Amino acid sequence: MKPFGTIVRILFLAIFLMLLLNGNVMLWLLLFVISLFVALLFGRIYCGYACPMNTLMLPVEWLSKKLKIQTKSTPKWLKNGYFTWITLVVSIAVMLLSKRLFHMDLPVLPFWLTVSVIVTLRYRPVVFHNLICPFGALQRTFGRFSRVSKSVDHEACIGCKLCEKVCPSDAIKVLDGKNKAVINKMLCHQCTNCQEVCPKAAIHYTKI
Ligand code: SF4
Ligand code: SF4
Repeated sequence: MKPFGTIVRILFLAIFLMLLLNGNVMLWLLLFVISLFVALLFGRIYCGYACPMNTLMLPVEWLSKKLKIQTKSTPKWLKNGYFTWITLVVSIAVMLLSKRLFHMDLPVLPFWLTVSVIVTLRYRPVVFHNLICPFGALQRTFGRFSRVSKSVDHEACIGCKLCEKVCPSDAIKVLDGKNKAVINKMLCHQCTNCQEVCPKAAIHYTKI
């Protein structure tokens, strides 16, 4: 899945950059709206494979770890989770008002792309994914109702926590006391990282 996933991400990034260079980046928002309905059925596939921010954050995270500048901490003011909703409301307001008042599209998407890269240079990807990204706020809202998602077979799971370590969005957690992993489909990007490291092949993409 990894090489295939990487090819899909690069293809979507190329489409995004092409739209950006042609001045048609607002078309990307149409794709995003479609992805919300896809999330209702199949989970947050957009976040795992189509999102240009996620695709750029992967090498940036690698670089941040290599340079030893990544911190495991999270800024205190972000921890209550409200900021991601503020970024969503402000982004929508800016897009609507700029169009109505100035008859132009302000570069909201490139702005968040830049923020995602800067934040990931210092913090773990989960900080941007779960606490800052305005698009993530909507994907979480729709993804919580997904009919198909990654799920853990508790008969097979041995609670080794290897999956926790590779999850970009803290979606999988081994429950204290139970020694079994559980996936929060609202946070899951359906990326397969956890499946690839699980020594018991306990994680499956299945109807839930
Ligand atoms: S990696 Fe697999 S076996 Fe280990 S805790 Fe996660 S789901 Fe369970
Ligand atoms: S690592 Fe697993 S639980 Fe975490 S986002 Fe990817 S598929 Fe979902």
